[in-house]
Amino acid sequence: MAQDGTTGIVTLEPQQGERVRGVAAGLGGTADADLEITRPELLEARRTGDVGLVHSWELVTAVDGPGTRMTIFLSGCPLRCVYCHNPDTMEMKEGTLESVESVAKRVMRYRSVFNASGGGLTLSGGEPLFQIAFTRRLLKLVHDAGIHTCIDTSGYLGARLSDEDLDNIDLVLLDVKSGDEATYNAVTKRELAPTIAFGDRLSKLDKPVWVRFVVVPGHTDSEENVNNVADIVARWSDNVERVEVLPFHNMGADKWKRIGLPYELEDVTPPTPESVEHVREVFRSRGLTVF
Ligand code: SF4
Repeated sequence: MAQDGTTGIVTLEPQQGERVRGVAAGLGGTADADLEITRPELLEARRTGDVGLVHSWELVTAVDGPGTRMTIFLSGCPLRCVYCHNPDTMEMKEGTLESVESVAKRVMRYRSVFNASGGGLTLSGGEPLFQIAFTRRLLKLVHDAGIHTCIDTSGYLGARLSDEDLDNIDLVLLDVKSGDEATYNAVTKRELAPTIAFGDRLSKLDKPVWVRFVVVPGHTDSEENVNNVADIVARWSDNVERVEVLPFHNMGADKWKRIGLPYELEDVTPPTPESVEHVREVFRSRGLTVF
C-alpha cells in the first residue's frame, strides 16, 4: 500500500511576500518545519541544490524500479503530455520546499526496507532533471550511502546529467513517448531528438535502462508509431533490461480539472488487454524483454 507524503502547498508567487516558508507537516515529523528563507536566499538555494521543491512521495513495491522504493515526485517538467497523470507537477508551483539533507535523511531511514527488498530511491515527477542541482546532490548523497538509485525521466533534459552524475544513478527508467518527431510533438509538445540522444549515450555507457511506453488509443498506438518506438529501443538492446508497456488510464483527469487545464483525453478509453498485448509482441519481436 502506498504511503502518501503529499502535504501542504507552497505557491511560489510574488504575493507570498518577502519570505517563503517550506511546509513540512505530514512528512514523518522531519524535514524542514523551520525552513524559512528570503526570496533571494531561496533562488540561491535552488541554484545550488540546497533546497528543492518536492511535490510528494510514496513507498511503492513492484513499480518504479526493483524492490520496495521510495518514489519522490519533484515539481517541474518541460513536457506537456496530453495523457499526463500528474499534471499538478508540471509547473513549479505546488510542493514542499525541502533541504537536500533532510530529504536524503528521510530516504536513509528506509535503508533496511530497501536492503530486504532490493529496492531504493526513485526520483520521478514532473521531470527529475528539471531541478537538476537538487537532483544531482540528492542522488549523490543517497548513492554514496549505498542505496540503489533510479530516475524516471523522459530523457528530454538528459544532457543536463554529467557522466559523473550518471555514476550516481544505478538504473534509468526512460519514457519513450513516441517514435517519430511529429507524433512525439503531438503527444508531448516537445521534440523527440533529445530522448534518442540520451538513450544513445546511456547505451554507450552500458547504463541499465528500463524503457517505458504508454499505449494511448488514437495517440500513440498506431502500428507505425509502435514499430518506430520498438526500432529505436532495439538499438539499445544491450543495456535495456526490460520494456514496460503501460496502458493509458484516465485517473489523472480530476487533477487536470483541479488545476484548471483543459484535458484532451476525456473521451479516450483505456486500451483493451489484447491491444496492449499486441504492442508487447511488437517489442518482443525485436528480441526485447517485455512486461
Ligand atoms: S513527462 Fe511526465 S510529468 Fe511531464 S508532462 Fe509528460 S507525463 Fe507529465
